[in-house]
Amino acid sequence: MTVNQLYKSFGKLEVLKGISTTVSKGEVIAIVGPSGSGKSTFLRCLNLLETPTKGQVWIGNHEITNPKVDIMNVRENVGMVFQHFHLFPHKTVIENIMYAPMTVKNQSKNEAETVAKHLLSQVGLLEKASEYPAKLSGGQKQRVAIARALAMAPEVMLFDEPTSALDPEMVKEVLEVMKSLANTGMTMAIVTHEMGFAREVADRVLFLDDGMLVEDSPPAEFFTAPKSQRAKEFLEKVL
Ligand code: ADP
Ligand code: MG
Repeated sequence: MTVNQLYKSFGKLEVLKGISTTVSKGEVIAIVGPSGSGKSTFLRCLNLLETPTKGQVWIGNHEITNPKVDIMNVRENVGMVFQHFHLFPHKTVIENIMYAPMTVKNQSKNEAETVAKHLLSQVGLLEKASEYPAKLSGGQKQRVAIARALAMAPEVMLFDEPTSALDPEMVKEVLEVMKSLANTGMTMAIVTHEMGFAREVADRVLFLDDGMLVEDSPPAEFFTAPKSQRAKEFLEKVL
């Protein structure tokens, strides 16, 4: 995935001010920075939930910012997990996972079910297949949301503060699932406040401040010797 001089404005408010970076296949990046710095907007531009004002994004060889691109196609290929899980409340866990592959990819029920069961066991929730989301804990809901995104076999997975809405005791189970996903070689971009996780799992940390990419370094460097004053101040607050 390559991002070149990405800008995004909402009316007069310029939120992203020329972000450029490349994420290799299988790489995991953590995106950190103060509230309001543009982290969510950046992530949302990567699957066209927001339309960038200027600049290019390539997923593989495919320029998704080309105006001729099929937006649905892009979203199939770029999975996203949100802070709030957005599961379909009237579908069971397994139906939540089977829905998009059957409706968007025309998978047969059997095929979708086989994939869904495999993914549910990957996130440790096979025994919850027939439950409704309301019966699950926050951590379990988020693991289902991850499985649901994976069911489309995306090339890249985006996570926007996936553990921020969880009770503390459920954070770990979700981070464990994400860590094992990272170990499968999935390309991942994760907005997170979990600095321990970023340090352990990410290949690079991107520090955003005021819509600019201020640092893009390996965690060992970012956490011990940040180059900018702004990153130093941020780390003093969060560590
Ligand atoms: P972060 O995720 O780092 O907290 P966001 O990307 O959510 O930051 O927001 C960055 C800035 O963009 C904020 O000032 C926010 O109010 C503004 N913003 C985000 N989305 C919209 C929108 N849809 N319309 C107008 N302003 C927005
Ligand atoms: Mg945000």
